[in-house]
Amino acid sequence: MTESKHSAANGTHNESSQCDINIIRDSVRSLCSDFPGEYWQRHDRERSYPIEFVSALTDAGFLASLIPEKYGGSGLSLLAAAAIMEEIHASGCNGAACHAQMYTMGTLLRHGSEQQKKKWLPRIARGDLRLQAFAVTEPTSGSDTLSLRTTASKDGDFYIVNGQKVWTSRAEHSDLMILLARTTPKDKVKKRTEGLSVFLVDMREAIGHGLTIKPIRTMLNHATTEVFFDDLKIPAENLIGVEGRGFHQILDGMNAERVLIAAECIGDAQWFIEKACDYARERVVFDRPIGQNQGIQFPIARAYAETEAAKLMLEKAACKFDRGEHCGEQANIAKLLASEASWQAADMCMQTFGGFAFAEDYDIERKFRETRLYRVAPVSNNLILCYVAEHVLQLPRSY
Ligand SMILES: Cc1cc2nc3c(=O)[nH]c(=O)nc-3n(C[C@H](O)[C@H](O)[C@H](O)COP(=O)(O)OP(=O)(O)OC[C@H]3O[C@@H](n4cnc5c(N)ncnc54)[C@H](O)[C@@H]3O)c2cc1C
Repeated sequence: MTESKHSAANGTHNESSQCDINIIRDSVRSLCSDFPGEYWQRHDRERSYPIEFVSALTDAGFLASLIPEKYGGSGLSLLAAAAIMEEIHASGCNGAACHAQMYTMGTLLRHGSEQQKKKWLPRIARGDLRLQAFAVTEPTSGSDTLSLRTTASKDGDFYIVNGQKVWTSRAEHSDLMILLARTTPKDKVKKRTEGLSVFLVDMREAIGHGLTIKPIRTMLNHATTEVFFDDLKIPAENLIGVEGRGFHQILDGMNAERVLIAAECIGDAQWFIEKACDYARERVVFDRPIGQNQGIQFPIARAYAETEAAKLMLEKAACKFDRGEHCGEQANIAKLLASEASWQAADMCMQTFGGFAFAEDYDIERKFRETRLYRVAPVSNNLILCYVAEHVLQLPRSY
């Protein structure tokens, strides 16, 4: 880890105590204070990548917080990592430019060989390599991941990849990509969940040799892209884990992702609530602060209550993950509740500010656009309800 005035190293052990986490929170807040609203407004306007912010987080070691110390990271708990994301968002910043650097390596960490881990993780931890592209979603299959069509066929010491991904975020700002592709045709496997495999793609070699990236301009600054594979050759040694078991291998990483996204939503909600409270106390209309009206203060109080409740579920999910327990139910519910809470808080904040909410200078319309994403990605809330109905409540599968 490089030296930085802000550091994730303050709490370098797995059982991050509350005290460690509070120190980490202060450190993140301090770093974020160097990136005020104008910084984000500029990048948002230009749809440019906030490289200075990402570099500062990397130098401070925050993006390597989940990489074990033996591979050069700070080996923090998921609870501590969630606190980092929450503080980034509560400060008005946006971790989406780099959040995947934290959790995408989880598949490599849990399922990669020792040789692969030694080769890649220390360089990722140092920030020499960025692994923050996660290519799963495809234009035709969408939420139905098991129907994805990108194929990887074994050919001697290589796999040849053909197909297309969509919404592969940060592909232009990543050296490595985790790719999920079908290695056995769907009609040749017993279960739909079999026959998919995970690969680590070295994009530095692949671009122009079978890999093409096309940016998609969206309503928020998210550096997302379409990715095309045209006879891309990947060394067979870049297969992670067991061929055909890729779907299972990415699932536990997805729980970590859901917890961290939930933490971003909690941070967003806190930001909206704080902004709304400050404004509601100060803005005087009809000779009284607008916050004196229950029509203004009740939505703020409700947003606060919903955010606190979602935060409890997030903590439950993170603690279970850190203990190595199955946390699919809690991680999914945390993401559902947190994304709904942040969206309610965003809408409440728009309403509290009235017309001024629409002015770019206030950052509210930007954060409103940014937080809306999380009801859809990385998994749509409907699909979370499907999961809870089927896997938690044993109701018939609906899809
Ligand atoms: C900005 C952005 C960044 C993203 N980044 C990434 C990334 O880095 N990597 C990646 O792999 N993906 C990424 N995604 C993709 C994201 O995960 C998907 O958009 C999301 O999972 C939904 O899939 P879809 O868009 O294909 O919607 P669809 O699957 O087409 O669904 C459309 C709507 O129908 C609903 N629906 C579908 N089936 C059912 C059902 N059976 N029951 C009830 N409702 C249903 C969905 O909930 C949704 O509301 C990103 C998306 C966006 C917008």
